[in-house]
Amino acid sequence: MNTPLTAATCPTLRRDDLIVIGGAGGFIGGSLARYFHDQGFTRIRAIDKKPLPEWYQRVPGVESLCMDLSEYDNCVRACEGATEVYNLAADMGGMGFIERFRVECLRSVLINTHMIEAAYRAGARRFFFSSSACAYNITLQQDPNVRALKESDAYPAMAERGYGWEKLVSEIFCQEYWAERGLETHIARFHNVYGPNGTWDGGREKAPAAICRKVITAKDTGSHEIQIWGDGTQTRSFMYIDDCVVGIDMIMHCKELIATPINLGSSELIGVNQLVSLAEEIGGVKLTRKYQLDAPRGVAGRNSDNTFIKSVLGWEPSTPFRDGLTKTYAWIEQQYMTRKAGKHTVS
Ligand code: NAD
Repeated sequence: MNTPLTAATCPTLRRDDLIVIGGAGGFIGGSLARYFHDQGFTRIRAIDKKPLPEWYQRVPGVESLCMDLSEYDNCVRACEGATEVYNLAADMGGMGFIERFRVECLRSVLINTHMIEAAYRAGARRFFFSSSACAYNITLQQDPNVRALKESDAYPAMAERGYGWEKLVSEIFCQEYWAERGLETHIARFHNVYGPNGTWDGGREKAPAAICRKVITAKDTGSHEIQIWGDGTQTRSFMYIDDCVVGIDMIMHCKELIATPINLGSSELIGVNQLVSLAEEIGGVKLTRKYQLDAPRGVAGRNSDNTFIKSVLGWEPSTPFRDGLTKTYAWIEQQYMTRKAGKHTVS
C-alpha cells in the first residue's frame, strides 16, 4: 500500500493555498488550524460565531473571523478564494446537550448547506464534513458489549434524534454535490474526540472531560463523592485529538474516499466505570460513586469498526486511552486552577 497523501505531500496543494476552517474557535477546528499552521501552511482562514476572546485556541498568523456560518452571505465571505474548506462548525455537545437541544442540533443543517454551496461557488477543490457516530442506527447500540459499527450500519437509518439525523442529511448533501456538481467532498464519522483545548465545563462537555473535572473538583474540595450519569456500564471508544487531526488530513487527501463516509475513531472500547477508575488513578484519589439513573446516558454501547480505514489508509487512531487521558487530565487541572485563581479560561 502507498503511503497516504496529506496536505503536506499532496501534489495539487501549495503551502500558500487558502485553507478555510469553519468552527475554528472550537475544539477540533482550533486544533486543525494549529496543525496546518505547524505544517507550514501560510494562508489559513479560521471562522467561528463565538467572539474571538472566547476561542479555545488562537493561532498566530491565522486570519481569524467572527461570523455566523448559518447565514449564507457569511459563508460566501468565508469561502472566498478557498482551495480547501473544512467545516467543523456545529451546535453540539455531549449527551446532556444533544438530548436536550435537538432543534439547535438540527439547525446546524443551515451551516452545512450554506458552507458547501459557498465552497462550490468559490471553486474550492475539496470540502470536508465532520459527521458523527451518532449518524448510526441506534437499534444496533443497545448492548454495552456492542459489535463495533461499520460504515454500512448507518442504513437502514435510525440515527440519534436531532443531532444524528442532521449529520446523515448533511452527508447526503456532500454525496450529491460530488455526484451532480463534481465538488470533491470527504466525510468522516468521528467517534468521541477528547484532549486538551476541548470543552471541559458548562454543559457541552463530553464524558472524559466531565469525569476528569469531577475528580479534580472532588480532590480539591475534599468531597469523597462522584456523580456518574447512568449506571456506569455504558461503553464508548474515545479518540485522542492528535489522531483526529491527522485522520482528517489523510481522509481529505485520499481519492478513494471521495463522497464516502468513513469511521474516524479509536477501536479501544472503554466502560464509563473504567473511565472513572482511570481518572481516579491519575488524580491519586478514590471516590464513592453515586449513579444518576435519570441523567442523559445515550446509547448503551458504541465502538468504531476500523476495518475500512485500515484497508484504505493503512492507519487507524492508536493513542492509548490511558496516555490521552493523562494529558487531558493535566490540562483540565491547569484550567481548573487558573479559574480558581480568578483568571479567565475558555471553555
Ligand atoms: P465544538 O463545540 O468545540 O466546536 C464547534 C464550533 O462551532 C464552536 O466553537 C461553535 O461556536 C461553532 N459554531 C456553532 N455554530 C456556528 C455558526 N452558526 N457559525 C460559526 N460557528 C459556529 O465542537 P467540536 O468537538 O470541535 O466538534 C467539531 C465538529 O465535529 C462538529 O461538527 C461536531 O458535530 C463533530 N463531532 C465532534 C465529536 C466530538 O467528540 N468532539 C464527535 C462527533 C462529531
